[in-house]
Amino acid sequence: MFEAFVLAHIPRDILEGLFVVAIGGMLVSVIRKVASGEMKANSCPQCHRPTSSAYPFCRHCGASLVSSDSSRNRSTR
Ligand SMILES: [Zn+2]
Repeated sequence: MFEAFVLAHIPRDILEGLFVVAIGGMLVSVIRKVASGEMKANSCPQCHRPTSSAYPFCRHCGASLVSSDSSRNRSTR
């Protein structure tokens, strides 16, 4: 009786363990990104308002958000 009870509950415990590991891994990756400054809010060099680096231009004033480093690398090729 006891062995059957244990066998029936092992798969659920494994699933719960995987779930905890997956959530923990996600949290760790997010914390690492924040700590390394990867998710730091981007601000426009022209109007200094927060904007997203996903757009090539500022949503507020239309200034180019492409960094000088990337344009310099592009011109060397
Ligand atoms: Zn702007």
